Amino acid sequence: MNIPKKRIKDPSRKDIEQVFLEAYEIGREAAKEGRVADYIPELAKADPSAFGVYMLDGKGKSVFYGDVFTRFSIQSVCKVIILAFALKYRGFDETFSHVMMEPSGDSFNSILKLDMRSNLPFNPMINAGAIQTVSLLTEDFSFEDILNFSRVLCMDPGIELNEAVYKSEFETGNRNRAIVYLLKSKGVLTADPEKTADLYFKLCSLSVSAETLASLGLVISNGGVNPFTGQQLIEPDHVRTIKSIMFTCGMYDFSGEFGVKVGVPGKSGVGGGMVCAARGPMGIGLYGPALDPFGNSIAAVRAMEHISERLNLHVFDY
Ligand code: GLN
Repeated sequence: MNIPKKRIKDPSRKDIEQVFLEAYEIGREAAKEGRVADYIPELAKADPSAFGVYMLDGKGKSVFYGDVFTRFSIQSVCKVIILAFALKYRGFDETFSHVMMEPSGDSFNSILKLDMRSNLPFNPMINAGAIQTVSLLTEDFSFEDILNFSRVLCMDPGIELNEAVYKSEFETGNRNRAIVYLLKSKGVLTADPEKTADLYFKLCSLSVSAETLASLGLVISNGGVNPFTGQQLIEPDHVRTIKSIMFTCGMYDFSGEFGVKVGVPGKSGVGGGMVCAARGPMGIGLYGPALDPFGNSIAAVRAMEHISERLNLHVFDY
């Protein structure tokens, strides 16, 4: 396929379909360059050539190609849901008195700066920050509470705990346990460390699809309102915070480059998922388990670069 690069001003429905098809082709090619995560043994079973992209707009129109209904574990994309939940029930001030809002420039599971430069984790989109945010919820909320919130937020009653992934994470999550205990030793984490680690592992093991993530992206891009029911699921101020943190921290130590080249608030996970909240409103969910060295889906990154360029979606475009 000969892939055009030119930006389209005021794209028609047909243009949008064409651009997503192009992005799908680009993603499928890019997947060949990536590697599936294997540090969680269960993730190593994913098909590295799988790829799907799903777009949902505020009128309920969708465009999708590829493996968009395949279920996979949400992994770090759950950090967006955890942050939304914490902001809703703990509020902005309390949440951010326990975790900062600075990009770390380090890999998602790094412990380095946490010990050297600061007591509080840098932001809620890296493991340390997400674990710390989870610890604000462990005493008062159950896994089921957050599962139900996820189902509503993502308009997907089919989200469940993937038991095999959970077991795999539980058995091999030593680095995450190290983070939990480091935070505990500093007196930063006040909840029970094992309960906190367990809830974090469970939330990373929620089963979603690219379609699920497109709906999540749509709600975020639509100011926290489900456009089909009119229900305000996240307060507008909280949406602003979530989008800002996704933009600056959502791709770990690739966040800067993603911000420049794609310029859309997004969040990835090592299961291969990615959610993007583009203006429109437009939610984009992607799945491609072959990862780049940063732990982002290589197919999703390349596809999003193309979609953003062709459809003028960069937040700083004019
Ligand atoms: N569950 C994974 C971990 O804690 C999530 C990391 C990710 O998706 N980047 O290592």
